[in-house]
Amino acid sequence: MIAVMALALSALTSVQAQETPSQEGLKPVKYVFLFIGDGMSSPQRQMCDNYLTAIGQPGMLMNSFPVKSPTTTWSANKLVTDSAASGTAIACGEKTNNGRIGMDASGTRKLESSAYVAKKTGKKVGILTSVTLNHATPASFYGNQDDRGKYYLLGLDLLKSGFDFFGGGAIDKHNDKKYKKYVDDVYKNTLSAGKDFKGDIYELAEDFGYKVVHDADDILDLEPGDSKIIACQKEGSLPYAINHEKGLRLDQYLAKAIEMLDGKDGFFIMCEGGKIDWVGHANDAGSVLNESIALDKAVKVAYDFYEKHPDETLIIVTGDHETGGLTLGFAGEGIQANYKLLQHQTCSRDKFRDEIYRIEHKKDLTFDEVKPLIEKSFGFKFDGPKDDPMTVTEEELNLLLKGFEKDKKDYHNRALAPVVFKIFDKKVGLSWTTGSHTALPVITSAVGVNADFFKGNLDNTDISKKLKAIFQAK
Ligand SMILES: [Zn+2]
Repeated sequence: MIAVMALALSALTSVQAQETPSQEGLKPVKYVFLFIGDGMSSPQRQMCDNYLTAIGQPGMLMNSFPVKSPTTTWSANKLVTDSAASGTAIACGEKTNNGRIGMDASGTRKLESSAYVAKKTGKKVGILTSVTLNHATPASFYGNQDDRGKYYLLGLDLLKSGFDFFGGGAIDKHNDKKYKKYVDDVYKNTLSAGKDFKGDIYELAEDFGYKVVHDADDILDLEPGDSKIIACQKEGSLPYAINHEKGLRLDQYLAKAIEMLDGKDGFFIMCEGGKIDWVGHANDAGSVLNESIALDKAVKVAYDFYEKHPDETLIIVTGDHETGGLTLGFAGEGIQANYKLLQHQTCSRDKFRDEIYRIEHKKDLTFDEVKPLIEKSFGFKFDGPKDDPMTVTEEELNLLLKGFEKDKKDYHNRALAPVVFKIFDKKVGLSWTTGSHTALPVITSAVGVNADFFKGNLDNTDISKKLKAIFQAK
């Protein structure tokens, strides 16, 4: 089995062993945007189109681009990549092992990202994400660490990069005196605790010429100037789009980055929708929808800019891998699909689960007391007309009651929330095969100057190779 897998991987990897593409025929481009949907492959993008057209809106802007190319994502050591290896492939153009950031498969040779090439040619560089700034995908553009869990060291790499604008979620573990990595059996931490601790990253930033801004109003008030900027939340990632909590959104960060970085040599901006992956892991369709649409709103900001500068702008949108094994269509009761129903989901899986959990602490709780939360969060109707798709059938009610009884015995079981999600998925017409990533190729779409250069079957490493060639085009 392992031999077969190794053979399959070597056959796959031999396909992507391309030379750096020729710069012949390439035009220099002043403004380049690269969007990455973490965990966003074709099913996620198609689901959004299904939903948007069902509610009478145009589909996803990113899906309307003239170039759309299937893009393979495997890593050097696994058929199914993680965000570190795929981020490194997209950023640096070389396959590496899962867990590595900007390093080769052995973890010893540093790789150079397209962002550094852009910077060398005089462009300003912006790195934006809805998750934390030293998470795997953004870190792959500025960092070089053998283990994605070395957040503190990636924070130092961020400062050393000299890139012009960082925006979005916080710098994770910015003051981690021990910079303990997250627990992972595969990548053991080789650092001795605290050995290289140099101080809080936010405080060190000034020594590296950065101004750090956390307050939302202060971020919106920033004006172009000489200083390099870290505009981010103090802690954590941006709120889930579906929960409508307060805080700046990814498209607002991007609009600010454009304003700050525009200048005579132009810019390269990488903008990641990082939480599509998180909610994909949770098999949370409504949140995948909302996070993907939030990324598309940021794409719209770039597209509006492109329309003002059509001869100077290139926009690329890709994903780093698929998450959840999302399948569109549910064959259980005939192939039914009603994506409009996704509008009834009003909160993320995390939030729903926490709210249920809170209620279930109550003694002598009845199912009637839980119903309003299910109705509010998913639009279920317990006494609705038979022909209304949101009306709970007898079979569904039995499943819900079973989950509820299990939780009543011990609320740690957390059995009810997954049942609600399963029923909701069935009503919408979708399903999931895993809580992890899959090897399904992603889609890379492009519009603008040199967009045709991204036509055809791509591997994720091609994106970096092609962008580097574009940045060096004369
Ligand atoms: Zn993931």
